[in-house]
Amino acid sequence: MALNDHVDLNGFMDGVTRRNPHQPEFCQAVQEVAEDIFDFIEDKEEYHAQQILRRIAEPDRIVSFRVCWEDDQGNIRVQRGWRVQNNNAIGPYKGGIRFHPSVNESVLKFLAFEQTFKNALTGLPMGGGKGGSNFNPKGKSVREIMRFCQSFMTELYRHIGADVDVPAGDIGVGGREIGFMFGQYKRITNNFTGVLTGKGLEWGGSLIRTEATGYGAVYFLANMLAVKGEDLTGKTAVISGSGNVATHAAEKVVQLGGKVLTLSDSGGFIYDADGITQEKIDWVKSHKTHRRGRIEDYITAFPRATFHAGKTPWGVPCDVALPCATQNELLGEDARTLVANGCRAVSEGANMPTDLDGVHVFKAAKLLYAPGKAANAGGVAVSGLEMSQNSERRSWKEDELQQMLKDIMSGIHKSCLKYGDEGGGYIDYVKGANIAGFKKVADAMLAFGVV
Ligand code: NAP
Repeated sequence: MALNDHVDLNGFMDGVTRRNPHQPEFCQAVQEVAEDIFDFIEDKEEYHAQQILRRIAEPDRIVSFRVCWEDDQGNIRVQRGWRVQNNNAIGPYKGGIRFHPSVNESVLKFLAFEQTFKNALTGLPMGGGKGGSNFNPKGKSVREIMRFCQSFMTELYRHIGADVDVPAGDIGVGGREIGFMFGQYKRITNNFTGVLTGKGLEWGGSLIRTEATGYGAVYFLANMLAVKGEDLTGKTAVISGSGNVATHAAEKVVQLGGKVLTLSDSGGFIYDADGITQEKIDWVKSHKTHRRGRIEDYITAFPRATFHAGKTPWGVPCDVALPCATQNELLGEDARTLVANGCRAVSEGANMPTDLDGVHVFKAAKLLYAPGKAANAGGVAVSGLEMSQNSERRSWKEDELQQMLKDIMSGIHKSCLKYGDEGGGYIDYVKGANIAGFKKVADAMLAFGVV
């Protein structure tokens, strides 16, 4: 067989697994995309001849570095940092930074790979990247977090730039951490540029960036329901997580007339049969962000609720579900339970929260199921708008940005319909998102030749 002869999906995945040993998350993300792309490119010789999928599944580069910092007791601590620059065919690398003990190269490669398609779906000129560290911010003082962020940026600054690579926040990295990193970048380079997004409003940030991922996931959900002539009024929602994405998704569900029953963190989930109202969401935001508390404390503040230690919320019957915590938090068994309990729609606020078995269950049940790369693209979309505002040196108004976010989410929904309409009223949103995202990046790569 000549080197560029077609291989089938199994042959392709064998190669990916062989080249990326011990990287299960990355292989899982590639497989989920490849399952749809293989059908799509079957009769498109150019994509085969140019080995486009093989090239997208190989990051442009991965930078790995040591991050030393001193804790409050004067101990020297050593962490590992990475930036995965996956693909810049349609714009500068763009993607968040994650600080969590589970971070490793496999996790960041999967996130950068997913980000490449997600960013393409927004319609904005952004390539895909992701970075982070195995640093655990939990239990650290603010000064320790500041010292860590400064040390992290002292290496990262050489690899990023407003037209090169523009990181943002992710798990464990919010406005405060972006501030510490931006401050250090500015100090080292003497440059005030839009090199990070998620910045504070006083220093180049954009309105609604904080809310955009969670709000966007609910706008996408509303778009899916609208195809069936439905909306969120009176619908019950089960949400996991209690961080940025989860709390803003909950807020938007409530605003659109739904009833939120659960939130969670890595300790378990809370169930509130009365509904988690805006006032209760505000309490969670403040408790998790400012007091860095645990979700189980919710039942002290709101005693009619219950806490379920060590459990995920997928067993709670609901109309719609929004996994908004982390990867592989919703397994095949959970997906079967949701379907059996009558759940009609799932919109992923988190990245790859559903494992491959779960994805197959949702597809087989013909659920309204939006994968993260489509549903949670609102955050990076508003990051893209923050980049534009930085370049123009101006700030757009909140109502303008809200409308742009809504329009972008509707645009992504339309792209999914274009490639995911299977007939008979079933839309395969996973397939639609994978093909629409792939095509945009692939066509740009074709234009560049073999680089
Ligand atoms: P965050 O504010 O740090 O919140 C993360 C939440 O997930 C916390 O409640 C955390 O609980 C929970 N969590 C983390 N690991 C968990 C585990 N193993 N089991 C159960 N719960 C766990 O992060 P975020 O920004 O909301 O991000 C959440 C997800 O959305 C991630 O997949 C991220 O990649 C994705 N996302 C975020 C954005 C964005 O704009 N922020 C954009 C697109 C996608 P603990 O407090 O106990 O750790």
